[in-house]
Amino acid sequence: MIGRIFVISGPSGAGKSTIIRDIRKRVDRLGYSVSHTSRRPRGVETDGVEYHFVDPDAFRAMIARNEFAEWAEVFGDYYGTSFSELENKTSRGLDVIMDLDVQGAASMRRAVKSCILVFVLPPSMEVLERRLRGRGTDDPAAVARRIERASAEIRRAPHYDYLVVNDRLTEAVEEMASIIRADRCRTRRRLHQLRTGFDFGEKRAPKEQAGETP
Ligand code: ADP
Ligand code: 5GP
Repeated sequence: MIGRIFVISGPSGAGKSTIIRDIRKRVDRLGYSVSHTSRRPRGVETDGVEYHFVDPDAFRAMIARNEFAEWAEVFGDYYGTSFSELENKTSRGLDVIMDLDVQGAASMRRAVKSCILVFVLPPSMEVLERRLRGRGTDDPAAVARRIERASAEIRRAPHYDYLVVNDRLTEAVEEMASIIRADRCRTRRRLHQLRTGFDFGEKRAPKEQAGETP
C-alpha cells in the first residue's frame, strides 16, 4: 500500500523543521522527504539529511530532465521534491512528511489529490521575527526578506486542511501527531490494513473528501 503524504507549510521561522524533527521521534512509520535545494547549508545542516545541497546549474539540469514532482524558487534559491525521493519513501508503505512552500503545496495537491496540507502559524508576527533573529542563521537582510514573504504565505493558510499554531512546541507536536494518527484511522485506510478476518460485507467505505485514497 502507498503511504499518505503530509505537506507542512508556513512562514520561515514558524517552527516547521523543529516540529518535523520532533514528530519523527514520536510517530512511527513516518518518512521525511529530503528536498533538493540550491541554497547553501545553514549552521550544522548536513547534505542528505536536511536537504540534498546542489549548485544552481545541477538543479536546473534536474528540472530539464523532469526529475521533480514539484519545485519552486524561494528567496532566490531553488527548492524541489524529486520523484526518486518520493518513490523511495512512499513505495516502502511509509507515510511521508514534507516541508514545502505555498507554491509547492499547491502543486503537490494537484499531483496527488489525497495529500494532507497542514499550515504552521506562529502565535504572532512579533514572535515570528523574534524566532528568526534568535535562530541566528540568517543575516538581518535575510530575516527581513523572510518576514516580508510571511504575510503573503499566511494569506494561503485558509486553503489548508489543518492549521497548527506553534506557540508551545509540545502542544504543536501533539496536534501534528493527532492529525497523522486520525488519518491512519480513516475507514478506507483501516480497511486496507486490517487482517482480522471480519466480514464487512459488500459495503464500500465512503469516498474521502480529500480525493483518491491510497
Ligand atoms: P522553520 O523550519 O519554520 O523555518 P525552525 O524550526 O527553524 O523554523 O524554527 C525557527 C526558530 O524558532 C528555531 O530557532 C527554533 O528553535 C525556534 N522554535 C521553534 N518552535 C518554537 C516554539 N514553539 N517556541 C520557541 N521557539 C521555537
Ligand atoms: P529554508 O531555506 O528555510 O529551509 O526553506 C525556505 C522555504 O522553502 C520554506 O518555505 C520551505 O517550506 C520551502 N521548501 C523547502 N523544501 C522545499 C521543496 O522541496 N519544495 C518547495 N516548493 N518548497 C520547499
